[in-house]
Amino acid sequence: KPLVVGITGGIGSGKTTVVEIFKKLNVPVYIADKKAKSLMQNDSNLIKRIKKSFGDQSYDINGNLNSTYLSNIVFNDSKKLASLNSIVHPAVRKDFQSWLSQQRAKYILYESALIFEHEQQDKFDCIILVTAPREVRIKRVQKRDNCSANDVIKRIDNQMDEKIKIKKADIIIENIKYKELSQKISSINYKILTKLY
Ligand code: ATP
Repeated sequence: KPLVVGITGGIGSGKTTVVEIFKKLNVPVYIADKKAKSLMQNDSNLIKRIKKSFGDQSYDINGNLNSTYLSNIVFNDSKKLASLNSIVHPAVRKDFQSWLSQQRAKYILYESALIFEHEQQDKFDCIILVTAPREVRIKRVQKRDNCSANDVIKRIDNQMDEKIKIKKADIIIENIKYKELSQKISSINYKILTKLY
């Protein structure tokens, strides 16, 4: 059975960028946030439960998930957010277990932005945290999503403080200069393979 390594980091830290480099080293990656969206779009059981809790408007007439509608409902209501999570998380967990059982690598990566926020850390053999200075993250996301600094700051402040995450993580990847990233990741890959982390 492969080691299950979680990889997380705040918005704009560069998780996706880091994960792409691990993929090039043939590490299998499960991208939980993307999978959750795809299950919400395609898993008929899940669709039924979402409609029951949040209304038929959660999907448009073509059956496409109305994520704007759902985000607006849960964004300022922590009870509704918890309720949506309690419907979606078990479906992701099941999908992940079935994916994991098919993997033959020594370790796999499970990418999620909110491992610590959702208190999922105990599910992992170890956790990698991708970090970058706040100003760098704000600039990156502003550029990527074409939005204002204030929009980014709101999203950053909605997540757990990076300093707290640093204390909880086993391995930190500071992602500032792209040039140094491949080298850092090769060495971490080696450490995990030889369980030296
Ligand atoms: P989110 O949580 O929003 O999905 P993320 O942590 O996955 O964010 P990325 O999408 O990987 O972050 O990176 C955010 C932006 O910053 C992207 O446009 C990416 O190309 C850029 N970026 C990431 N790392 C670096 C780097 N080391 N140097 C320059 N640009 C970078």
